[in-house]
Amino acid sequence: MSGLAGKCGVIVGVANKRSLAWAIAQAAHAEGAQFVLTYQNERLRENVEELSAMLSPAPVLHPCDVSTDEDIASLFERVDTTWGGLDFLVHGAAFAPREALDAPFVDTSREAFRIALDVSAYSLIALARGAAPLMARRGGGSILTLTYLGAQRVFTNYNVMGVAKSALEASVRYLASDLGPRNIRVNAVSAGPVKTLAAAGVSGFSSILQVYRDRAPLRRNIETSEVADAALFLLGPAGRGITGEVLMVDAGYHVMGM
Ligand code: NAP
Repeated sequence: MSGLAGKCGVIVGVANKRSLAWAIAQAAHAEGAQFVLTYQNERLRENVEELSAMLSPAPVLHPCDVSTDEDIASLFERVDTTWGGLDFLVHGAAFAPREALDAPFVDTSREAFRIALDVSAYSLIALARGAAPLMARRGGGSILTLTYLGAQRVFTNYNVMGVAKSALEASVRYLASDLGPRNIRVNAVSAGPVKTLAAAGVSGFSSILQVYRDRAPLRRNIETSEVADAALFLLGPAGRGITGEVLMVDAGYHVMGM
């Protein structure tokens, strides 16, 4: 048991059944948590509706493009009217223009850099700002984001997303420091590669999966349920002494030198 039973959350970043955020949503649901699931815009509503219909009771759905302050404000107004407070937030949104993920990094355009950093890193700050007052009403809360080792090391074609993940991980630490006095914890799970929609945008992603299978201490790739279990640990009371942390869930790949 993760201790999330009866807790209220927001989960951002469910695109389809392979999404890491969907694995977390399913695990949180199984533990008895309630949550709002967001979708980026009306075009993508149907996907999330279909998935959420698999859960009973079905989660609340709300549109939220994380690059829009009005959407973020509307999301937390909905949370306020629904529950009057908030216990946890999962941030699983990331995006970089396709051309930035298969061209030489040195050719990254100013616009691609802006978009990648805005959607993939700044959005955590904006969401945390919206969540904090609602969490403070509950005496504290827990925020979790998803990152990748490309924040620290070079992976072919990960490019500007690696820079965005570095900014995201630094934001985890600064937010942890800012929000800790209100008993709000902020952490990240750094997942090994998983073939999702976002990952498919990185040119040559399959070879990254193969390298992990060959070299990770566990000699395999991870499963989304393993990310979800680690997420629940950090979100729930078992993680109550942990904040500002990046927890590696990558079959141990990050410890290897060769
Ligand atoms: P995913 O299923 O494609 O999820 C990415 C999500 O970001 C999608 O739901 C996407 O929504 C959302 N998103 C993009 N732009 C958005 C915006 N402006 N507003 C709101 N949502 C937006 O892929 P995933 O792999 O599960 O990614 C989830 C997180 O895990 C990301 O931060 C990713 O970097 C991280 N991660 C992934 C891996 C991996 O190998 N898959 C490894 C480590 C970390 P739409 O599809 O509706 O646009």
